[in-house]
Amino acid sequence: MNFKSHLDEFEVFGKVATAATNLGVKTYVVGGYVRDLVLNRPCKDIDFTCVGSGIELAKEVALQFEGHVPLSVFKNFGTAMLKLDEWELEFVGARKESYRSESRNPIVETGTLLEDLERRDFTINAMAISLNAEDYGELLDPLGGLSDIRKKIIRTPLEPNVTFSDDPLRMLRAVRFAAQLDFDIDGDTFHALSENASRLNIISGERIIVELNKIIQVKKPSYGFKLLFAGKLLHEFFPEMVDLQGVDSVDDKSHKDNFYHTLQVLDNVCLLSDDLWLRWAAILHDIAKPATKRFNKKVGWTFHGHEDKGARMTPEIFRRMKLPMDERMKYVQKLVKLHLRPIALVKNEVTDSAMRRLLFEAGDDIDDLMKLCRADVTSKNNKKVKRYLDNFDNVAQKLLEVEEKDQVRNFQPPISGEEIMAIFGLEPSKIIGDIKEEIKEAILEGKIHNNPIQARELMLEIAKSKGLSPVLDLPNS
Ligand code: ATP
Ligand code: MG
Repeated sequence: MNFKSHLDEFEVFGKVATAATNLGVKTYVVGGYVRDLVLNRPCKDIDFTCVGSGIELAKEVALQFEGHVPLSVFKNFGTAMLKLDEWELEFVGARKESYRSESRNPIVETGTLLEDLERRDFTINAMAISLNAEDYGELLDPLGGLSDIRKKIIRTPLEPNVTFSDDPLRMLRAVRFAAQLDFDIDGDTFHALSENASRLNIISGERIIVELNKIIQVKKPSYGFKLLFAGKLLHEFFPEMVDLQGVDSVDDKSHKDNFYHTLQVLDNVCLLSDDLWLRWAAILHDIAKPATKRFNKKVGWTFHGHEDKGARMTPEIFRRMKLPMDERMKYVQKLVKLHLRPIALVKNEVTDSAMRRLLFEAGDDIDDLMKLCRADVTSKNNKKVKRYLDNFDNVAQKLLEVEEKDQVRNFQPPISGEEIMAIFGLEPSKIIGDIKEEIKEAILEGKIHNNPIQARELMLEIAKSKGLSPVLDLPNS
């Protein structure tokens, strides 16, 4: 296979080749870029490996561009990076020892191209394209990456136990690439992965979550999670999710397997949105089912309060998994907490006030909440699914109507605390909060509409009952 015409298309390869010739070092395009080129996936990161100093090569390439490309040098790693428009070019010398080993004293020895490729994670990531005059554009594939791409297989270049013990993160990367590319993991590789799963414990949470989030962001993440589960990797960093698996039966009554249900909900939500955090809400929506599971002779299995307990578990899971402890966590927590509420609104006799309360609590996340609820319908009976989804269409329509009338989705109090203080000549005190709360409640209950005129009338009534009278003349309403 020859990629000369691809190299000729982009100026950058010619410049790197010239720089390499000037320095007299053999240079290759390697890794993900070559893989993605074969797979016809666009890729903006190019890794160059040379048999020599990557930093010197990068400097020489920068000269070829007359210094117009910003250069960053990472001396400790022996790498350098150039930014060229939307491209990121990384330069490194061929290595013999542990690739990107992050142990305290990485022994990184200069090696040949073959030694460098062997130290990579998978055969599909261990191909190179020559930039050298004698075989410019030729694919060098000593480890059989091309054939594995054709067979759609993830396989380590060396004996898998060696590859995985050098850097256990590669086990997660195996699953990640399988999930992204929809490949199988080779039998021996998968066997070694399950044998070495517990070695993940030396990998930092920060590195793990990067891979996990990549698995979650593929088109159909259930496959990745099934591999994580089967390889016992999930057990190492996400035991709460493992606990979802399994079915209990009492008196011939069994509940559904919440692990596979959760995966189905996750896949469903992925059809509706690319948002990582909505996907996390799907993953966590039933996370407290094992902890709240009860059996009741009359009604069978129940999971009362799993939404509240799940919301309480969310911050701890986020903290441990090194997910962000900011408004993104709050968003996931809110969706977990509210995930049953739209279902309760499906019944015909539901009041507007229940609608207003949900709008008030969900705020701008109401649309995402509705997506999660739709995704949560996982019956195998298509008629049932259709009926449920139609019901949600009705709920969505009613929510729209209620919101149009009362705008509670981004509730702003119709009377401010400052106004109340001025009208009654009060200092800041609890009573002001009480009055505001009563007005808000009256709006949500539908006793008054969300407008300042009705709110003022009610405020005067409330104040009177508390023995307050206005010190200011109010404009006639
Ligand atoms: P992506 O950019 O989509 O994450 P990639 O394959 O380009 O995928 P990078 O992390 O950018 O992955 O790494 C570039 C190349 O470096 C890989 O293709 C692989 O050859 C090598 N590599 C990266 N991380 C490791 C690792 N932990 N072990 C061995 N080789 C690795
Ligand atoms: Mg990359």
